[in-house]
Amino acid sequence: MKIALVTGASRGIGRATALLLAQQGYAVGVNYLNNETAAQSVIDEIHQAGGKAIALKADIADEAQVVAMFKQLSAELGPITALVNNAGILFQQTTIENLSAERINKVLSTNVTGYFLCCREAVKIMSHRHGGKGGAIVNVSSAASRLGAPGEYVDYAASKGAVDTLTTGLALEVAAYGIRVNCVRPGLIYTEMHASGGEPGRVDRVKANLPMQRGGQPEEVAQAISWLLSDSASYATGSFLELAGGR
Ligand code: NAD
Repeated sequence: MKIALVTGASRGIGRATALLLAQQGYAVGVNYLNNETAAQSVIDEIHQAGGKAIALKADIADEAQVVAMFKQLSAELGPITALVNNAGILFQQTTIENLSAERINKVLSTNVTGYFLCCREAVKIMSHRHGGKGGAIVNVSSAASRLGAPGEYVDYAASKGAVDTLTTGLALEVAAYGIRVNCVRPGLIYTEMHASGGEPGRVDRVKANLPMQRGGQPEEVAQAISWLLSDSASYATGSFLELAGGR
């Protein structure tokens, strides 16, 4: 049985990924922070299509909530085989002078600590070293990890740099224990992240400067994530896939 957990799956890239994985036969844990109605609509859509999914409320930055989420997933669906670390936050554009410690800590605790905690709990279940059957992890980073997002959100870019390094280190650490760890780096994708945190309309403003001259759709990211999780990517670990229209 293929059992996936997708964090931040009530909307955007996480939602598209949860729906696609369910179509592909995964039983899916749909993690959400506080929008239960949105998470339930993802579950309903999966159930209507004949798939299996449960809602898992947890703040990924909170250790106790992450541990409880993995326990619930194991109890209700079974041992996880695929983790998609997707939940993330982005605040308004600003320069370094205006970056508060509170904002920096919030970004790092979600985008970095949250990814570490979910990887840790998944590895405990998947690893051959602990009697597990192996599995695959995909971390959702960002093109910003290499571009740095100067004058916009260097805090966010730096958090994604940490996600890249986590991917490399963990891939090497667990390769011998049946776990593959890969990373996608989306560019500008049409989701509510830009409307709620970054700059509304940003994708449309900058798309003319992108080599492909368009933003990406969440489903295009989901396809790449599902491939990296699948057996078709069985020799890929520590890999980075750019999904940024050539940027
Ligand atoms: P989004 O804002 O639509 O979705 C992010 C989800 O994460 C939301 O549902 C939110 O509630 C959830 N979340 C935030 N903090 C959480 C926490 N502490 N615990 C649990 N859930 C939490 O944005 P999206 O564009 O779908 O982003 C998904 C991922 O893709 C993020 O990691 C983001 O950094 C990355 N990304 C997005 C873009 C883009 O242009 N949209 C580009 C590059 C990378």
